[in-house]
Amino acid sequence: MKLAMIGTGYVGLVAGAGFADFGNDVACVDVDENRIRRLRDGEIPIYEPHLAELVDRNSRAGRLKFTTELDSAVSDAEAVFIAVGTPQNDTDGAADLSYVLSAAEQIGRALKGWAVVVTKSTVPVGTADRIREALGRTSRHPFSVASNPEFLKEGDAVNDFMKPARIVIGVDDDRARNVLQNLYAPFVRTNDRIHVMDVRSAELTKYAANAMLATRISFMNEMALLAEKVGADIDKLRRAIGADPRIGPKFLFPGPGFGGSCFPKDLRALLHTAEQATLELGVVNAVERANQRQKRVLGERILAHFGGKLSDRKIAVWGLAFKPETDDVRESPALSLVEQLLSAGASVVAHDPEAIETTRARLGDRIGYASDMYEAARSADALTLVTEWHAFRRPDFLRLKSLLRTPTLFDGRNAWIPDEVRALGFSYYGIGRQ
Ligand code: NAD
Repeated sequence: MKLAMIGTGYVGLVAGAGFADFGNDVACVDVDENRIRRLRDGEIPIYEPHLAELVDRNSRAGRLKFTTELDSAVSDAEAVFIAVGTPQNDTDGAADLSYVLSAAEQIGRALKGWAVVVTKSTVPVGTADRIREALGRTSRHPFSVASNPEFLKEGDAVNDFMKPARIVIGVDDDRARNVLQNLYAPFVRTNDRIHVMDVRSAELTKYAANAMLATRISFMNEMALLAEKVGADIDKLRRAIGADPRIGPKFLFPGPGFGGSCFPKDLRALLHTAEQATLELGVVNAVERANQRQKRVLGERILAHFGGKLSDRKIAVWGLAFKPETDDVRESPALSLVEQLLSAGASVVAHDPEAIETTRARLGDRIGYASDMYEAARSADALTLVTEWHAFRRPDFLRLKSLLRTPTLFDGRNAWIPDEVRALGFSYYGIGRQ
């Protein structure tokens, strides 16, 4: 099948390469000329495990192409996917649909026959109607509009896309349904994980899924704060409550608050949708507020340890990406912590295996960057673990102790064993532990 993928970010690039891997001809389009040039030169502009092999294999086979020319990519495609960004707008937290709608207008002008135009971007309920309007204004040909929200997670995106837990297809007509079911058939050979529904339900499913996941995190973060206050241990609670099959063990880890390019903005967009529908979403509201508070917990703990003053203190930070195995720092809790530390007068030196350049693009030289994890700790007053990359889990603590000015550890991921590091002479602070 001939496909066009509009937008080659985390979602568009993975999805484009994934569809090509099953034999489809995919033209990936982006307005960012530099990005397209790099992709044509075989360079992957983001860090995502296994993506380079997937892109390379399919580019070599001639099934995956990169272009800035939307018209030629769209003209003979049977399905056109919109995978551009839907950031939060500056005024009321709603999703900014300007990229989606401008892509839709361009697609309309470029169509040379029927195609199904599919939103992969996360978009609020009702966006398909606005896309239909935009296409109607610009296209001289018939078209269908469908919703196919993406559930991949950064850091494991290729695996998620190639072996999806479920595929949601929102369609209003049979022709669009057939095209999308056929396209996804090779992804679901062992059992049927395709959920076909109406477009509005598909649009809302994505937000509901993210809100549910965020709820688990905020709930556990609150339990962790309470456990600390009453002398309990969140790790013991986590294991015991996760053993209940109705709850399950995943997504129950407390930490420094959730971030990333999806949860925070999607929660705010969902709240905005509810507001428009004159409905108060009390739970989602509370999840968001709990997260705002949680993002300050580590910083407040550091401040308290140093008597409320951080001027003349140097704090080492391990982990800048919003989660391991990505270079994405959008809304990363590590960056919130860094801002909090800087405004309290501390100097910060950070290390991340992949996210130094993406952080430097945002923070410039306001903090120091260490290319080696131990170098970050040299003569620092404390070391803070924010993102749980594998290499940070079992560091050489004796070496750390000799490098740090004062042996103090703030473990934002409960990655270390308190008794072990305390026996080595560290002051240790976790989340929800004694
Ligand atoms: P991104 O910012 O990494 O990429 C978006 C790309 O679209 C950019 O390269 C940009 O240059 C390009 N673009 C913008 N306007 C364009 C246009 N008119 N024509 C062609 N290209 C254009 O974004 P992302 O992280 O891939 O997210 C895309 C969408 O998918 C968002 O709605 C997001 O919420 C959703 N989503 C993201 C993830 C994730 O983990 N990142 C997961 C599921 C869903």
